[in-house]
Amino acid sequence: MSTNDTELFDLVIRNVRTEEGGPLLDIAVSGGRIRKMWQSLRCEAVETHDGEGAFAFAGFVDSHIHLDKACILDRCTICEGTLPEAVLQTARAKAGFETEDVYARAARVVEKAISHGTVRMRTFVEIDPRAGFRSFEAIKRIKADYAFAIDIEICAFAQEGLTNEPATLQMLDAALTDGADLVGGCPYTDPDPERHIDMIFELAVKHDVAVDFHLDFDLDPRHTDLPEVIEATLRHGWQGRVSIGHVTNLSAMAPSKVEAIGGRLARAGIALTVLPATDLFLNGRGRDKLVPRGVAPAHRLARHGVVTSIATNNVMNPFTPFGDASLVRMANLYANVAQLSRDEDVEQVFDMVTANAARQLGVTHGLTEGAPATIVLLEAGGARAAVREVARVLTGWKDGVKSFDNGRTQIFRRTPMS
Ligand SMILES: [Zn+2]
Repeated sequence: MSTNDTELFDLVIRNVRTEEGGPLLDIAVSGGRIRKMWQSLRCEAVETHDGEGAFAFAGFVDSHIHLDKACILDRCTICEGTLPEAVLQTARAKAGFETEDVYARAARVVEKAISHGTVRMRTFVEIDPRAGFRSFEAIKRIKADYAFAIDIEICAFAQEGLTNEPATLQMLDAALTDGADLVGGCPYTDPDPERHIDMIFELAVKHDVAVDFHLDFDLDPRHTDLPEVIEATLRHGWQGRVSIGHVTNLSAMAPSKVEAIGGRLARAGIALTVLPATDLFLNGRGRDKLVPRGVAPAHRLARHGVVTSIATNNVMNPFTPFGDASLVRMANLYANVAQLSRDEDVEQVFDMVTANAARQLGVTHGLTEGAPATIVLLEAGGARAAVREVARVLTGWKDGVKSFDNGRTQIFRRTPMS
């Protein structure tokens, strides 16, 4: 019911902040979109939620996660904790993956991600003679079944090489005509990295899709596949559609060299994702003291205009035997490892799991009038506090409909005995 001076909306979320230290606002929603954001809105709504001072934002974006091989620790043996061992152990386990099994493990991770406020993700799916199309079929169903809460894009991924296994190329090609959204490669597992990069770009051009490479996953600053990726990006005019993940050897380079590479990446429109949990677990295994961090300095690259993100990568497998798909936790981990403290640096880290990650995926992100009413509330005063305190995620809506609720913290005080 509306009167002359009040409007009726589907939903109004009252008393939230969208800026650290900013005023409390009300957000009015109808037809799945934000219609008004202002202080003390005079309006009525079918549903009202009191945010009680929570921080409201447009949700976390996970730019790099492997749902297909999550939660397989019980099928693998980790002795060395190295990258080659992780690839080998996972390849063995993968041969036994069944569609229902992949679906169940992926669903577990996606539900955790939803409860941690993630509203969009790019998931890699291995499609090769060992996995067949079984994982791909499972993840396509996951994408459809969880669309009420999260937008999932599927990257058809060659984890174990192309030139050594031509069948994989044909299978990726088929997947790209059957629901995969983009294509991903891994030059460091291919006997011919340069040709591998070319083959991935050929598929990308044929299907007019973005590409995402796992790249330079070691601590050797002398060897790099980056020049080939930059050259191919420019040759095909693929600026803004290419991502690279890990690039941990940047952590072994002098700042001046990192800055020069940052300039080249920015000019080529190549985005970079750091995966702190995996990079910390697998790198530096040859050292018994002063173990290097091995995490690319994304904040330095961002200063040179590179689109950078922080993402989950793996959950409970030989690449990362930990994980809960929480991006606020991952942001905090990165800020801690990168030794960041200034407000502007910590705010930039929050952007790397929200707006910048969305930009990498080619989508808009933010709470503005007219934007989709995909809104998440954090128990924090703002973005910086969220990263510093690993803020609790409270509740969220996708396109104006509530998709999860973790409940408010309640402290039950006891009355002192006299
Ligand atoms: Zn990965």
